[in-house]
Amino acid sequence: MAAAFIDKARITVRAGKGGNGAVAFHREKYVAAGGPDGGDGGDGGSIILQVDDNLSTLMDFRYKRKYVAENGADGQGQRKTGKTGQSLVIKVPRGTLVRDAETGEIIQDMSGDEPFVLCRGGKGGWGNMHFATPTRQVPRFAKAGLEGESHDVILELKLLADVGLVGFPNVGKSTLLSVVSKAQPKIANYHFTTLYPNLGVVYVDEGVSFVLADIPGIIEGAAEGAGLGHDFLRHIDRCRLLVHVVDVSGSEGRDPVADFDAICEELKEYSADLENRPQIVAANKADIMADPELLEQLRAHVEAKGYPLYVISAAAHQGVKELMNAVAAKLSTLPPVRVYEPEYVKRPLEVDTSAPLDIRVEDGTWIVEGPWLQRLIANVNFGDYESRNWFDRMLRESGLFQRMEEMGIQDGDLVSMYGLEFEYQR
Ligand code: GDP
Ligand code: MG
Repeated sequence: MAAAFIDKARITVRAGKGGNGAVAFHREKYVAAGGPDGGDGGDGGSIILQVDDNLSTLMDFRYKRKYVAENGADGQGQRKTGKTGQSLVIKVPRGTLVRDAETGEIIQDMSGDEPFVLCRGGKGGWGNMHFATPTRQVPRFAKAGLEGESHDVILELKLLADVGLVGFPNVGKSTLLSVVSKAQPKIANYHFTTLYPNLGVVYVDEGVSFVLADIPGIIEGAAEGAGLGHDFLRHIDRCRLLVHVVDVSGSEGRDPVADFDAICEELKEYSADLENRPQIVAANKADIMADPELLEQLRAHVEAKGYPLYVISAAAHQGVKELMNAVAAKLSTLPPVRVYEPEYVKRPLEVDTSAPLDIRVEDGTWIVEGPWLQRLIANVNFGDYESRNWFDRMLRESGLFQRMEEMGIQDGDLVSMYGLEFEYQR
């Protein structure tokens, strides 16, 4: 049996790099040396997540794990801006949690319809057309495009449903879902027919409806390794209410009270939160009940715990309407489906500036290089005043300018760092 339901995946995403700004000069007949006209690089494309209700699993992410958006094109002469890189829109099923792969922190809960920008494309660099000033007649100044953001993330599907069906395999959960909604789950008289969670919308009355989820069976066979395990319980983690289906027919020699307790124990093992979730008990298969005493034992047992009990026959459509009305009434008293708040915060870049940089002079230009400098430049947004200040401070604190002074740099000398060029000012 191929369990093709994929509800967890790890992927790597990378936004596009910004294009480089151009160094170019305007050439015209009869004009000896025109002004600087190098255009800006285009911005890199972003990585955007978007909910798509046609998707119900994370299966696609099993086959493709790397997602890269387009780079921005370099700027050109004649003030031509490079083309913006195309953003990559990744579609995910509703209810997908996006987590940081390293810390597990939630970056975003993809429950709504708003697109979410997971990684921003790198800014395009400025061309030298921006640096034509009266004092700097021939600016060579142009900026390299910035790297796009990248991230390793874990996608985890946690279905969005108001009500979750729980109970042993074969008790009639899928049958109930098929009877009260348009969902067509697989129904068969053997255990574990449900491999995919199924969602159905239940219309109770005009304007009153809710989403009901049937998840794969929990317990039976788990000990022999045949079970799908606790993992599937995460799909009812958000449910506001559980409908606990118990088979009271005695047809499989089952004890309804023991069954009920066993499921509650599973819920408790998953989380105290789930254990304490409001429940309504559906005593099913009443149409073939052999011993009414079993039902009465169950009734006494669950009512003592404060759970209401409804006697139904899903197959014969008996008592089902009353049950759904009770569910809707209870839901109207409960808080809405849980949406997770983001936990992840972008950490400020940590750069160790202690390693000395490589300084050399070529054709009167001071060229500075070194691994940390490259990283630093890639992460600074030079269009932003605060970022520029931070960059300046990092360079100063590293002792770079002091060393250059000692080597004899003068005001107005050109400094070049990985495509970033500027005139030195004390
Ligand atoms: P699930 O594993 O809990 O989803 O159970 P299913 O809905 O697949 O049902 C298991 C078997 O029980 C199927 O053969 C159903 O036809 C049968 N069944 C479900 N509900 C009833 C019921 O109310 N009465 C009777 N007699 N059989 C039922
Ligand atoms: Mg089923």
